[in-house]
Amino acid sequence: MSSSKRDYHADNQLEAILAGELGRQRDNLEMIASENFVSERVLRAAASVFTNKYAEGYPDRRYYGGCEFADRLESLAVARARKLFGAEHANVQPHCGSSANMAAFFAVMKPGDPLLGMDMSHGGHLTHGAPVSFSGKVFKAYFYGVRRDTEIIDYDELTRLAEEIRPKVIVAGASSYPRIIDFERFREAADRAGAVLIVDMAHYAGMVAAGLYPSPVPHAEIVTSTTHKTLRGPRGGFVLCRRTFAKAIDDEVFPGLQGGPLMHIIAAKAAALAEALEPDFIDYQRQILRNAARLATRLVDAGYRLVTGGTDIHLVLIDLRSKNITGQQAEAALDKAGITANKNSIPFDRERYTVTSGLRLGTAALTTRGLGECDMDEVADFVTTALQSIDDDTRLRRIREQVTAFCRKFPLYPGLDF
Ligand SMILES: *Cc1c(COP(=O)(O)O)cnc(C)c1O
Repeated sequence: MSSSKRDYHADNQLEAILAGELGRQRDNLEMIASENFVSERVLRAAASVFTNKYAEGYPDRRYYGGCEFADRLESLAVARARKLFGAEHANVQPHCGSSANMAAFFAVMKPGDPLLGMDMSHGGHLTHGAPVSFSGKVFKAYFYGVRRDTEIIDYDELTRLAEEIRPKVIVAGASSYPRIIDFERFREAADRAGAVLIVDMAHYAGMVAAGLYPSPVPHAEIVTSTTHKTLRGPRGGFVLCRRTFAKAIDDEVFPGLQGGPLMHIIAAKAAALAEALEPDFIDYQRQILRNAARLATRLVDAGYRLVTGGTDIHLVLIDLRSKNITGQQAEAALDKAGITANKNSIPFDRERYTVTSGLRLGTAALTTRGLGECDMDEVADFVTTALQSIDDDTRLRRIREQVTAFCRKFPLYPGLDF
């Protein structure tokens, strides 16, 4: 190393950015439904010296020397994942949820095979067959969606499509569907089509771990997930599967798709999985749900229509059409008011993906910060006031000052500089 310790400390440009991001996270209301705040233990594991280690392969089957601790680490993370979800096999190497899905698809499909996934504008994820994603380019994608009247998944149509298309894979799971998914109906549809059922529980993993959302593990051959949403781990992915699919999944993750696993992130996954095995994780997940229910009630009382009328989970999806604002305008106004969220398509949306008619709000991150139901009343007021002030920058700035003062009541990483 040629640079002295002094030089390292003098990287002012980088430090300003890192400190700026910490300040942003501290001073804003984080309502992106797919985000969370990891514990300091998880953060430390992610910043550990395991970032230096190459460990291509799997425990006791590596392509590099010096893997004795990497082996113990990965075995620990795998054991914890299997225990938490009651799975026969786990692979904790996928770098993200998308690569977990890619591994799952390639383990059971060949290019050109038919795939039946949820329409993205109805809540499905990009990787469930959208034309811009590898999943829509490599496989022949078909889509099911929600009913126009109830905005609940149209299970009859799903079964009909499954029988007609006979897809190799049916994928269940969504990014903006606020209701519990009936995995038994998916199993039935998959059986009728002779398809493999893959459940992508990226958004639900924390609630599934706590027993507050039905587990897909008994129903699906393969379950994929992220670690960083309600599960509150580092950014990353994992795959659970039945023993009969274990080798196919492992071979697809490495060497199929990835090179060396991110061992520091696997350390952070192990830390997060241990936290999820603790009894107080159930209290945390329960509070997320209570907070989401309270937020939903307050928004409905304030005259906002929610897709499906409410929520069973950690997020709500607001239909902004009756307010004559777009998702894009809503997201921008909230940003100015110190509230971070994202525009989102709603079922049968007529606006483009870059504009949308919806706004998605989640409570997982705010619940980690310590907000309870009464605090959600204030949060809902901030949100609705901001949405009523999209053209009034002065008012939005005033809300932002109130939001920052409010956030200071809920310290985030008090001991950290960045
Ligand atoms: C977030 C999400 C993913 C992908 O996660 P990345 O880590 O961003 O690749 C996959 N599926 C669903 C349903 C998701 O919500």
